[in-house]
Amino acid sequence: MRIPVWILAFFLAVACSSPSEKQATGEPVPLPRSVSESKTADPAKADSVQEEVQVAEQETDTLEKRLLAAGLVDVQAIIPEVRVDLKYASTDNFFGKNVYGSLTRCYMQPEVAEMLKMAYLELSKTHPELTFLVYDAVRPQSVQQILWDELDKPDSIKPLYVADPKKGSLHNFGVAVDLTLASKENGEPLDMGTGYDYFGYPAYPDREEQMLAEGKLRPEQVANRQILRDVMKKGGFTGIGSEWWHFNAFGRKVAREKFDIVK
Ligand SMILES: [Zn+2]
Repeated sequence: MRIPVWILAFFLAVACSSPSEKQATGEPVPLPRSVSESKTADPAKADSVQEEVQVAEQETDTLEKRLLAAGLVDVQAIIPEVRVDLKYASTDNFFGKNVYGSLTRCYMQPEVAEMLKMAYLELSKTHPELTFLVYDAVRPQSVQQILWDELDKPDSIKPLYVADPKKGSLHNFGVAVDLTLASKENGEPLDMGTGYDYFGYPAYPDREEQMLAEGKLRPEQVANRQILRDVMKKGGFTGIGSEWWHFNAFGRKVAREKFDIVK
């Protein structure tokens, strides 16, 4: 029997077709990588994928990542011997709330960390048994805003407790450091007459003579503060009149010229 040529050609074509071509006409097969990637060639889809990535990144964003992105350094990476007790990462602060989340490291401008290192070297010479205990350095403006908004005081007296975030504080630039002196051996802070963030004249370096005269400070407490002030001065820091623990590496004008506010 004679089979027409076109029928032979048909069977030959079916027998030689590749399995994937057969599957392609039947069950779905996973797209090869290059094909699935090519989906993003569609600009609208590419945008939505990009947005999804950004949202995911924001969700995993942490305060620490922002500080690193701002070019700040961990003080203990520069001076391993210093101790850090971030008061705003605990409820042990005047505010009674943790506003730093899980942050445990203390960040500041690299130049400020180098200045603090000079101060530390001076402390090591004059008082080798002591170290710094750092309570705070950079305080992002967003955190300053939380403190400002949630402080239960009239706006007119809020600046006595926390700097107005609109004006910014030197902590926002990462150029201010709050610290005390502590035993190198056990980390026990020295007696400075008041605790950190104590609001009132006993915390004022400007009022020490008066506080001594009134018996609200003892000479050894002022002497401890003086050790801190002396070494910080050697590092190039300047204290302020109302907080024994606060030191500025730069004034406001220089800070603005050199650095951006950390948002
Ligand atoms: Zn301060």
